[in-house]
Amino acid sequence: LIVPDAPTINYISGDGVGQDIFPQAKRLFDVAVEQVYGNHKKIEWHQCFAGQESFEMNGQYLSDETVAEISENLVTLKGPLMTPVGEGFRSLNVTLRQKLDLYACVRPVEYFDGIESPIKNPQNVDITIFRENTEDIYAGIEFASRTPEAQKLIKFISNELQINKIRFPESSAIGVKPVSPEGTKRLVRAAFDEALKKSKQRVTFVHKGNIMKFTEGGFRKWAYEIASDYPTFTKLEFDQIKAKSGIEAAKDAKGLALSEGKIFVDDVIADNFLQQIIIHPENFEIVATLNLNGDYISDALAAEVGGIGIAPGANINFETGHAIFEATHGTAPDIAGQGKANPSSLILSGLMMFDYLGWTEVSKIIKKAMVDAFKEGRCTSDLGGSMSTSEFTDVLISHIQMKP
Ligand code: NAD
Repeated sequence: LIVPDAPTINYISGDGVGQDIFPQAKRLFDVAVEQVYGNHKKIEWHQCFAGQESFEMNGQYLSDETVAEISENLVTLKGPLMTPVGEGFRSLNVTLRQKLDLYACVRPVEYFDGIESPIKNPQNVDITIFRENTEDIYAGIEFASRTPEAQKLIKFISNELQINKIRFPESSAIGVKPVSPEGTKRLVRAAFDEALKKSKQRVTFVHKGNIMKFTEGGFRKWAYEIASDYPTFTKLEFDQIKAKSGIEAAKDAKGLALSEGKIFVDDVIADNFLQQIIIHPENFEIVATLNLNGDYISDALAAEVGGIGIAPGANINFETGHAIFEATHGTAPDIAGQGKANPSSLILSGLMMFDYLGWTEVSKIIKKAMVDAFKEGRCTSDLGGSMSTSEFTDVLISHIQMKP
């Protein structure tokens, strides 16, 4: 990505708490950029409209104009958008991801000292999830019960596969689960590129290939094919090395990965994985998985480090460069407009954006400010504190400005 000194960054403030957190996060980002670069670099913010604000302006929740702006400027920072209730409306977030083919949903989950966690060793949680974003049952290809389309599919399936002995009522609604080698491979490549960039020692594929042989099992197979393009070793290779050299020479896979400069690659069945991240989160670093598994895993991991108010995310197409960095929580209608929402999810998503732009010094000083604030017990009410959105942002800004 070639980044000018004053890149144009789109922003969508979002609905509900988006209006509370966005102005605060933006204020913080401008201060941090100025602190690092003085007058040499700055963000040219370009406001785009989607969701409620857009609907009030032009009767559309997501206009072609907004999609065109997001497409042109490549990088967007976004607050949460409300999905209108009722049939016929698709989630705006899912629509944006599909329109721009943002195939990788990247969710780093990291524990900050001082934050309450329901697990014993939260300090061991430092995991980045790469969730495939465009395929799987989540693509929303569904046919309602008793519609001609569903009936046609049922007839086709019963004839072709002669599954009549399996209980399959004619009244079934049907969902389609597409998983392709192309879709899997580009996602898994992005996960390995991240592992190399961040010097990580372990990449884990999470799937239900034991049950869904061709879709989730396909994901597993294609993922291992990509692994062989990278400096990796598998569990089988590890066991062979161990058998040859003795346990002392290769105590554990991570140790071996470190000493050899390689990445240990393995796979875990999704249900077991959800247990493992509670018992042994230290065993995982980068995780690549399908869309629906990734959805569950992201929220489960977020809960281990303080909840969705502090979990960042990005949707990226690493080939075109399009990226939307976004708060992972929703519009929180129960607390919207009260000035008490936690801006951390959006702020941490902004940090991912600065890293993506190569402005890593900016993300470093904001991260340091957050680490210090949480250690001092300063946080919003969702994390057990008493600060408002703007008070918490003020604390971060004062920490940043204290730096030489
Ligand atoms: P939600 O994330 O809005 O709220 C769930 C709970 O978390 C609520 O109790 C809320 O108060 C709390 N919460 C969320 N963000 C918080 C924050 N920053 N600080 C403190 N507490 C916070 O989920 P929901 O209620 O299921 O969804 C509400 C709306 O948001 C729906 O219209 C949904 O479609 C939409 N949504 C949007 C996105 C997105 O834009 N990426 C994601 C999820 C949901």
